[in-house]
Amino acid sequence: MAGFDAVFVGSGINSLAGGALLAKEGWRVCVLERNDWLGGAIKTVDGLTAPGFTHEVFSSWHPLWVGSPAYAELKPDLDALGLEYLNTDLPTATAFPDGSSAFLSMDRAANVAELGDAWQRQFDEFMAGAEIAFGVLGTELWSGAGFSLGRKAYSHYGRRGLVEFAGHTLLSGRDWLTETFEDERVRGLLAPWVLHTGLGPDQAVSGFMTQVIACALQLGGMPVPKGGGVKLVEGLAAIIRNAGGELRTETDVERIVVSEGRATAVRLADGESIAATRAVLACVTPTQLYGRLLGEGDAPANTRDAALRFRYGRGEMQIHIAMNERPRWLGDERLARTPLLHLTPGLDGVSRAVNEADRGLLPAEATIALGQPMTVDPSRAPEGSWVIWVQLQELPPRPKGDAAGELDTGDGSWTEELREAYADRIVARIGRHIENLESATVGRVVMSPADMEEANPNWVGGDIYAGSCALDQNLLFRPTPATPGHGTPVEGLWHIGASTHPGPGLGAGSGYIVAKHLSRPPLGRRLLAKLPGVT
Ligand SMILES: Cc1cc2nc3c(=O)[nH]c(=O)nc-3n(C[C@H](O)[C@H](O)[C@H](O)COP(=O)(O)OP(=O)(O)OC[C@H]3O[C@@H](n4cnc5c(N)ncnc54)[C@H](O)[C@@H]3O)c2cc1C
Repeated sequence: MAGFDAVFVGSGINSLAGGALLAKEGWRVCVLERNDWLGGAIKTVDGLTAPGFTHEVFSSWHPLWVGSPAYAELKPDLDALGLEYLNTDLPTATAFPDGSSAFLSMDRAANVAELGDAWQRQFDEFMAGAEIAFGVLGTELWSGAGFSLGRKAYSHYGRRGLVEFAGHTLLSGRDWLTETFEDERVRGLLAPWVLHTGLGPDQAVSGFMTQVIACALQLGGMPVPKGGGVKLVEGLAAIIRNAGGELRTETDVERIVVSEGRATAVRLADGESIAATRAVLACVTPTQLYGRLLGEGDAPANTRDAALRFRYGRGEMQIHIAMNERPRWLGDERLARTPLLHLTPGLDGVSRAVNEADRGLLPAEATIALGQPMTVDPSRAPEGSWVIWVQLQELPPRPKGDAAGELDTGDGSWTEELREAYADRIVARIGRHIENLESATVGRVVMSPADMEEANPNWVGGDIYAGSCALDQNLLFRPTPATPGHGTPVEGLWHIGASTHPGPGLGAGSGYIVAKHLSRPPLGRRLLAKLPGVT
């Protein structure tokens, strides 16, 4: 039986970043991936729609990664391996149905001019506590580090201030936006961003998440790797390999072997076993971890039951379009220069579409996230042509009907016919903003929630965030209140990935937290290092 210090199940960003960090500490790392590509939600494909067009099949935008502590640590190695990030000073905008639009740039003064003084006030207010806010998203909350963060917050805010801060984080996006901004257009600029955190604008905590993203966009812009996300995957894989590690694709892990309460190996679908002498890290959902990878007796029954009750959120659709011309946007010329736009009537529009999807309906007027990667990285297609990436985050896993009363949803299956008909409706709406969309389209590929689930077992029902981010499954309680954090009842087994804190996104938060914990020197050495003269 081959052996490694750490074996990762799945090759998502949390595994690759966590594996690279451990590899740099001298660990021999093995990453096992069932698909024929490494990277999970990072998949770059040349010619997906038409020859010469490079698409990000799933995730596309890297502000969370570029702002992450994992990237800060791995950057010198990734730079040396040739990874290059490109950015823009105009990260996002919303285009409204009446042809007007609102923009957010990286220039604070320009944002105040565009969005009003309320922008400045909310930004300053957020930045005053940013260390705590980002700390919440980067710390194992149920741990000594979480306790230290709590103490830091207490000394920063005082008792009453801390209660106020905690209460503020619970605000819904609607309450935060209406309390902070009078202009409906500003609310409509920021409201769609809450969808990118797996929430809706009327859910608890969505106000806090909207504010985090709004400030992060001004600070970080919209970076993408030159050539696509595959460059980041290749860089992280090279760090692991160069340290003697191994990464295997088309390798399905079907069991974590537990011996005397400790994870000692994994067993593959073909029967091979791979020993893990120090840790197994599973980048999977709680339902897969406790319902498939662990045996029934490996974890207490209440933990297993809670994990199996883990809820999944709304489904998602991707539409990829290749155009043989640059898009001719109607309205503000800046629309053609903005990498990630939303098409929506505004806050109430997002709220309505989320509510329709939650009730099992195809939304009548979905929030369209429209990406234009070539505004940042022109290498993605031949000169004069264009790539469009569309994300629709308000879809039922099994539609019961159509809020617009137009499409027959049949028995709720995402058939090819339903998928394409729904995509036609979305493309027709985009066509009201981009006048040459139809005439210049040379290729289109659509992926329904069912296609998403097929691509990755973590996306149950097409939920690309690997589990509902409702408050009882978020922050202190992710993945579930009965199994919070990353430790498990099995010694040496760690749970990472989007289903765990700090949730979805390319920030690699869970991989980082666990890798740092595992590579921490033993307590004795840490105490010795604090003595004067001892290094
Ligand atoms: C369509 C889409 C667009 C997104 N856009 C963005 C974006 O632009 N920016 C951003 O920051 N975030 C984005 N996200 C979110 C972000 O990409 C994900 O939250 C993140 O990449 C998830 O990483 P992960 O480490 O949880 O693993 P995943 O990416 O979920 O990968 C897990 C891997 O484990 C494998 N696996 C599972 N079980 C097994 C098993 N038993 N044996 C072997 N392998 C197994 C799976 O096949 C998969 O490849 C997007 C997500 C999607 C799906």
